[in-house]
Amino acid sequence: MKQMEDKILAEGKVLSDQVLKVDSFLNHQIDPQLMKAIGMEFAERFKDAGITKILTIESSGIAPAVMAGLELNVPVVFARKRKSLTLVDDLLTAKVHSFTKNETNEISVSKKFINADDTVLMIDDFLANGQAVNGLMDIIEQAGATLAGVGIVIEKGFQQGGELLREKGIRIESLAIIESLENGEVKLKKEVPT
Ligand code: 5GP
Repeated sequence: MKQMEDKILAEGKVLSDQVLKVDSFLNHQIDPQLMKAIGMEFAERFKDAGITKILTIESSGIAPAVMAGLELNVPVVFARKRKSLTLVDDLLTAKVHSFTKNETNEISVSKKFINADDTVLMIDDFLANGQAVNGLMDIIEQAGATLAGVGIVIEKGFQQGGELLREKGIRIESLAIIESLENGEVKLKKEVPT
């Protein structure tokens, strides 16, 4: 998606060979017009997949997920990273190791909001090693729901998550794929595989 790639090149900050900071439009400050375009793009790509629900993980997946949910006219559920006083029983849970924080969180979703009748589109901001996607897949499996595919705003193609998930036959739609962050420079992959 050209608009996404242009934004990364204009505003992305390379923190290391492994980490890109995009806090001016996605991870801290949010660009609503860009989120709207992202939502429309995901909705277009998955319009024939029979999606009944979108699942993401707090907090940075929520903005693109809500915009996609608006376009597809389906509810959006986000997995919570912290135990909530109001989220007490009937939980589906999974462990997720955070790439950026280097800590393991238990994520949870109420059984009320995902069930065996659902066809789920998963959305997240970044794909690195695939830990977040794997945790959400675990939850979808526990619910007995069907995973239609995964929408990723920024995939880091030099990390293994995308390859491992595609090998498993999971449909991954990434709006931009980063080939390398070496020498402080963002190199984008030209052809975005679908
Ligand atoms: P994974 O679970 O695929 O290893 O990593 C994806 C998760 O880690 C995303 O939910 C995202 O929050 C975070 N993440 C991974 N790599 C980056 C990065 O380069 N920049 C930012 N801002 N977040 C990242």
